[in-house]
Amino acid sequence: MPALSNTIRPTVWIGCLACYNAGRLVGEWYDADTADLVTPEDLHGRPTQHEELWVMDHEDFCGALEGECSPSEAAEIAEALSELTHDEAAAFSVWVREWGESDDRSGWVDRFRSEYRGFHQSEGHFAQDWAEDTCESEDKARMTTWPFNAIDWDYAAAELFSGGFQSEEVSGGIHVFCPR
Ligand SMILES: [Zn+2]
Repeated sequence: MPALSNTIRPTVWIGCLACYNAGRLVGEWYDADTADLVTPEDLHGRPTQHEELWVMDHEDFCGALEGECSPSEAAEIAEALSELTHDEAAAFSVWVREWGESDDRSGWVDRFRSEYRGFHQSEGHFAQDWAEDTCESEDKARMTTWPFNAIDWDYAAAELFSGGFQSEEVSGGIHVFCPR
């Protein structure tokens, strides 16, 4: 189904663990951003002794959630995703898998944004962009003339990426990060 808007609306299938362990699937799809508010009574449609709920399936997390998790975890990830565009979410998912694991998700989006250096064709392309972005403005005009136009940017990139920058390959290019 094509997305109707640019908003990311992940959903989760929340199930009752006690029922699951007894061989019964009791659960329902919910919007992920309010997954932490779902009660066992909501799921069973009546008062119940069953307490523990679990996210057993999910959709539209843009890769930021793999496998199963608690409803509150899903809600935290969904909240982070709601602040991001689709393009950012793709990079965010890569970042979460590599560096984002933490108990404190409150500053997730800020941390991601401060560490993300964008999508690039290759490390060499990034190195050239980075050099142009960070050089003095009077040097900028010289970037198209010798010796700057003769720089082996792949070689320069090797240096750059051994000193703090990290890249993660995705189809069509790389996401670049500068993790703290
Ligand atoms: Zn149950």
